[in-house]
Amino acid sequence: MSNKQEGLRGRTAVVGAGIAGIATAVRLAAKGYPVEVFEGNAYPGGKLSSFEMAGYRFDAGPSLFTMPQLVDDLFRVAGKTPEDYFQYIRLPETCRYFYEDGTRFTAHAEPERLAREIETHLGEPADHVLSHLRDSATKFEVTEKLFLHRSLHKLSTYFNRDALKGYLNLHRLDAFRSMHSANSTRFRDPRVVQLFNRYATYNGSDPYQTPATMNIIPHLEYNIGAFFPKGGMVAITNSLVRLAEDLGVKFHFSTPVQEIVIEGKRVTGIRVKDLFLPFERVVSNMDVVNTFRKLLPQARQPERILRQPKSSSALIFYWGIKRSFPELGLHNIFFSNDYSTEFNHLFQQKTIHQDPTVYINITSKYEPADAPADSENWFVMVNAPANSGQDWDALIDQTRQNIINKLSRLLGQDIGSLIECESLLDPRLIESRTSSSQGALYGNSSNNRFAAFLRHANFSSDYSNLYFVGGSVHPGGGIPLCLLSAKIVGDLVNGRKEER
Ligand code: FAD
Repeated sequence: MSNKQEGLRGRTAVVGAGIAGIATAVRLAAKGYPVEVFEGNAYPGGKLSSFEMAGYRFDAGPSLFTMPQLVDDLFRVAGKTPEDYFQYIRLPETCRYFYEDGTRFTAHAEPERLAREIETHLGEPADHVLSHLRDSATKFEVTEKLFLHRSLHKLSTYFNRDALKGYLNLHRLDAFRSMHSANSTRFRDPRVVQLFNRYATYNGSDPYQTPATMNIIPHLEYNIGAFFPKGGMVAITNSLVRLAEDLGVKFHFSTPVQEIVIEGKRVTGIRVKDLFLPFERVVSNMDVVNTFRKLLPQARQPERILRQPKSSSALIFYWGIKRSFPELGLHNIFFSNDYSTEFNHLFQQKTIHQDPTVYINITSKYEPADAPADSENWFVMVNAPANSGQDWDALIDQTRQNIINKLSRLLGQDIGSLIECESLLDPRLIESRTSSSQGALYGNSSNNRFAAFLRHANFSSDYSNLYFVGGSVHPGGGIPLCLLSAKIVGDLVNGRKEER
């Protein structure tokens, strides 16, 4: 080892302070590596950030928190007590549902109670719901160890006891029909089919195309639980940044990385502010498409993976609402009347249907300080196609009016007149603020059964000291999977020979 290399001693650069970048920094720092995180924005968290407007606080992106144990793990691997940094509660109800036919129903978190409520309000036998949740749990058990905790791109993943158990149960994954097909076989009430089809949107897919394997998702919400962090979703980001700093991680904000520098079969460092900074290892938390296109243009481009269709994006209106609505909870869904037409618009026509399903998240239900007295902070979101150059300004104007009309009708209030301040997030802004290809929320879409294999690995096969984490690579998007990608990279760094 040369003196120069000796001086680097495991120095790791992480490109991007999204949740996966921060979690990777924590894991590597806890192993004793010196870690520096370079973030283009002036703030951490990427999609998982927050902002204030006229006395209201809003979480900017994710609103549903599942699998909190993956956050707790990070404090534990660092030898700390999670509660000293981060607290959360388990939600007694997961969501309030509103249908166009006037049906309203609250989904309670506890499966038996949920099933009874669905039977009472929607007429679907409770045992149909319970068996759906049992199947969902089985799918989770089969996939968890095989797909979620390990790199799919290492042979060792396929030759161990967990994998063998997984192969014996592969038929339970139900990968050969769509989620909708499975759900409409199981449930007789179309409103219940719609309710369980909705889980496809949790990773930005289309229930009419995505394999029924994705029926794994309700398990997270009902059997494991939905949670709310004290201080809002941004507390996940802030507490992990504090942990990382306590472990000695250095954050450089407003410092976009311009290039990952390669020499032969190795990465030698990064270029920022036109300066070369040497590092022994680089982990990119930038969307993998843009990592290759913008930071590694001279490297071989894994075209097949980079060109996969993208997950859906979103259009969000942040509204300060000068009234409170006791009929609303933390999570609320106002379903469209015609779900299949809505998804056809999103994924085939690449536009937004005139009757979209509207989601409202109101953190002031749990954090009263997030809104002034007798007011509420509404995060109003509809699914949107990934950005392919649509006339967004026209689509946003139209959709805003459609949302106001729908909510005013279903809540019996003129919602437009209650909005006292407003901000907006659209696919173009998601793309420019976080460098997510086409503003997709979850990287590649999961609309076919090979999707898991068409995400990029967590490591480079061309450069022995280059890694990838975050929602655009294995195992996928959403906070829990991003945290698992960081865990996989943490494990790989120890086990991988990074020859020089
Ligand atoms: P990102 O959050 O995309 O962060 C990447 C970071 O890298 C950014 O900060 C960016 O500025 C930085 N960066 C990029 N390029 C460079 C560069 N060259 N140099 C330096 N820095 C760079 N998930 C859930 O679990 N539950 C939900 O309810 C949920 N809802 C969502 C709603 C919305 C509106 C959005 C947008 C997302 C939602 N998600 C949800 C998805 C979840 O937010 C993401 O999967 C996750 O936050 C992605 O984290 P990440 O680490 O991959 O990267």
